[in-house]
Amino acid sequence: MSTKHPSLLASIFKMKCPKCREGEMFTQNSIFPLKDLLTMPDRCEKCQQKMEIEVGFYYGTGYVSYALTVALIAATFIAYWILFGMSYNDNSVFIALGISVGLSILLQPWLMRLSRVIYLYFFVRYDKDAINNTSQK
Ligand SMILES: [Zn+2]
Repeated sequence: MSTKHPSLLASIFKMKCPKCREGEMFTQNSIFPLKDLLTMPDRCEKCQQKMEIEVGFYYGTGYVSYALTVALIAATFIAYWILFGMSYNDNSVFIALGISVGLSILLQPWLMRLSRVIYLYFFVRYDKDAINNTSQK
């Protein structure tokens, strides 16, 4: 096992447990089938960190997912602006808007997962000894 600490951003995007950054936060790696999209284990398989700290804990993820969606739409819009340019003389504003809204809808399952991950990361701090501590008990 490596002694290197996994980086925060990499762990978030790989959807790893916030405490040990090794266990998986979701029971399936893929977002399909969609009905199990948000299925999480009760506890992290590596460090026993609870995945749902209290009942209804993930209610607040709506705000995170809203912020992510807005950020994604803005980023796509700006990217389109830089790459293709934008003008009032044609429909490019609407095309750019359409692409960014479409993309944010397509990515919604992934964004829902990501917002849960980010939300849990707000509450649970990384503990480099998390796995060793539980195995000693
Ligand atoms: Zn863990």
